[in-house]
Amino acid sequence: MAVKSVWQYYVPAADVLRLLDLFRRMVNDSLRIGLLNNASSLRRLSLLSYNQLARYHSPSYYKLCAISRAAGILAARNKSARRGYPTRTPYAVKPQLVSCYGFKITNDGLEIPVSRGKRFSIPLTTHTLQVISQSGVKVRSFTLTQNKLCLCIARDVPMIECVSTVGVDRNLRNLTVGNDDQTRHYDLSKSVRIAGTTRIVASFRRNDDRIRTRIASKYGERRTSRTSNLLHNATKTIVAVAVQRRTAIVLENIGGIRSLYRKGNGQGRRYRGRVNGWSYYEAQRQIEYKARWAGLPVIRLSRSETRGSSVTCPRCGERLQSDKRLERKLWCGRCRIVMDRDRVAAINLARRGRVRFARSQPLVRIEAQGGAVEAVKGNPTPTVIPGVDAPKLTHQTKS
Ligand SMILES: [Zn+2]
Repeated sequence: MAVKSVWQYYVPAADVLRLLDLFRRMVNDSLRIGLLNNASSLRRLSLLSYNQLARYHSPSYYKLCAISRAAGILAARNKSARRGYPTRTPYAVKPQLVSCYGFKITNDGLEIPVSRGKRFSIPLTTHTLQVISQSGVKVRSFTLTQNKLCLCIARDVPMIECVSTVGVDRNLRNLTVGNDDQTRHYDLSKSVRIAGTTRIVASFRRNDDRIRTRIASKYGERRTSRTSNLLHNATKTIVAVAVQRRTAIVLENIGGIRSLYRKGNGQGRRYRGRVNGWSYYEAQRQIEYKARWAGLPVIRLSRSETRGSSVTCPRCGERLQSDKRLERKLWCGRCRIVMDRDRVAAINLARRGRVRFARSQPLVRIEAQGGAVEAVKGNPTPTVIPGVDAPKLTHQTKS
């Protein structure tokens, strides 16, 4: 089941605004009860707080959803505490309403219960209607804030049978997608530029935490609204092209990347600011949910499968040499050629993913370099290159 959401602006009525605030207060009440009794599971929290929420004049669906929302917040807090991150006492500030019950999609809008026997209809835009009227799409829940309406939608999609793989290499300035046949760069250098111009450089006359927070959030919102569009365009095209060519997407494991650019690692402040200003997981998140929606398999390589993917020659498996004079280019001493670093990474990722792919889906035809070969279980995967393809390959061919 693939899940995603579609949102639009709407104009709230006074009734709806009252409902949003009521919901917020119910969430805070359940949070308080949960903290008091050290309960964070939905079941325990429901038993403890459902009766206490009786004094709120709200449809009873929303009471359950408020408890569920509070349980989610408490669970997230517990997770942070387990990982050793400092947490504050949770409290919902923004008026909001989340519900998976009671609503109805009529031919022109979303109809929700406001109070006993009274319903309110929110008109949906043509875009929203078009998205939710696609075949097999079901609306699972809705979320209202003061000016936005968000619908969570789900559908069952058949998996696309893939014939090959493409690797996606994430870099600061581009996304490189490709395999042995071809590679393509998606330029994101504009987002680096935007991040540079939305960084706070001014020195404050009064170094006040409240002022800094307000300015940082203003610039942060501006940055997000300008860069997310660029990234969405790139990931949309990547998934569309992969669906068209029936190639599974292979993602590298970039766990621990932040620790490479910490204070005290000998890099400049500006460089670290630039590298850490890039949201590494956002590209992955977008590719994954878009691929799932299209029914395209995504392969996440493990840490050890990712290792060395950008410094290994895709031709001979030799470790590539870098040179200050060759910017983002690498030199293979054995093949005596210069290769693009990003291209090399994408090709290697695609190959390593293909090895995994052949293991999990043994009857899918895999295009070899010379032509199509049936990769039946037991047959070796084509183009086995020691040091390039995944290390477990020899074990697999013997079995
Ligand atoms: Zn080589």
